[in-house]
Amino acid sequence: MRCAIIHYHELALKGRNRPFFEQRLVKNLRLVLRDLGVRQVDALHGRIRVALTDDTPWEAVSERLGRVFGIAHYSLAHSVPMDLAHPSLEALKLAIGREVAPLTFDTFRVSTKRADKRFPFTSVDVDREIGAHLCRLTGKKVSLGRPELTVQIELLTKAAYYSTKKEAGSGGLPVGISGKVACCISGGIDSPVAAYRMMKRGCRAVFVHFHGRPYVSRASEEKVRELVQLLTRHQSYSRLYLVPFGDIQRQIVLGAPAAFRVVLYRRMMLRIAEELARKERCWALVTGDSLGQVASQTPENLSVVQEAVQLPVLRPLIGMDKIEITEQAERIGTFETSIEPDQDCCTLFVPPHPSTKTSLDTIRKIERGFDLVALVKQGLEQAELAEYSFPAR
Ligand code: ATP
Ligand code: MG
Repeated sequence: MRCAIIHYHELALKGRNRPFFEQRLVKNLRLVLRDLGVRQVDALHGRIRVALTDDTPWEAVSERLGRVFGIAHYSLAHSVPMDLAHPSLEALKLAIGREVAPLTFDTFRVSTKRADKRFPFTSVDVDREIGAHLCRLTGKKVSLGRPELTVQIELLTKAAYYSTKKEAGSGGLPVGISGKVACCISGGIDSPVAAYRMMKRGCRAVFVHFHGRPYVSRASEEKVRELVQLLTRHQSYSRLYLVPFGDIQRQIVLGAPAAFRVVLYRRMMLRIAEELARKERCWALVTGDSLGQVASQTPENLSVVQEAVQLPVLRPLIGMDKIEITEQAERIGTFETSIEPDQDCCTLFVPPHPSTKTSLDTIRKIERGFDLVALVKQGLEQAELAEYSFPAR
């Protein structure tokens, strides 16, 4: 059988969470591979096996697996049947010999994991026996330290799986095991990275974007749609709420001193996002704030903004600087989209000297002049929902 063997970090598995973790990972793998002719995905002895047909392209499978959170490493493997009643390594030797003979290498090692301890040979016995066979067959030397080729063998109850190349996975936890979070996404560099980091810790991201139409063009919205599409490759399905915010901003501009606009915008955004989050059963809001980056992200202003809502506001980038965030954005593939020019609603009516140390008392006094409930209602009523799937349906 041709298959992918997938390993997850044992450390991620705390006791009784294991079946939950495995089932979620299996489900996520089925979803992301559904259009590639994948036949079966099963949890077996602490690994996951994805059965492939002979013509499933490995490059396509590998590209997808590399983006699924919860995978430590994976490899393309083949299997030979094993029988506990008549244990023998002969068929395995022949199969590995055929696979390894055409490869170019000088040194190698065999590394066996025996998942079913009932087999009469230990993993070291298998390493030695297969290793000796490969030495005779190829004339190459064993190197335990830095081999050019490592033959991995996994001895499971009904079959032994062998592979010659191991690929690194993304790590993290399978999307869905840490619940849902509502990610406030602008078209910028930071917020897609913030969403990615939460997805990597097992959260399903629901996205919320505030746009400035009709006062600005659609550009930021188009960018956000593209960013959500890119991020959906990690969670198979995403919901994006697009909330018109230009008119709400205009009302804030008319009714509040200029220096406090940005904090007032942020508090309104979070209030609307919180309502959407509750509707979607999210347990937290997420932003791409990084301490001290701009006026809205000073310690005082972050606290005043958080105070507008009850759900926790998570800021996974809070301790990162722009260079670190940019490197991550490049690595996860969102950077190019994020830097396309646009006009974000936050650039609308921004005062030249925003307050960097806003007091809660001041903000509360100003907000008394607004019908906050009506403004939130306006945002919610006008919100549009867009849905994304990967692979596309
Ligand atoms: P980013 O790359 O995320 O835009 P930034 O440096 O531009 O970062 P700000 O504009 O101050 O930061 O925004 C801080 C955070 O507020 C963003 O990371 C995002 O979570 C949220 N935010 C800002 N603008 C919007 C918007 N138009 N829609 C939704 N969320 C937004
Ligand atoms: Mg921004």
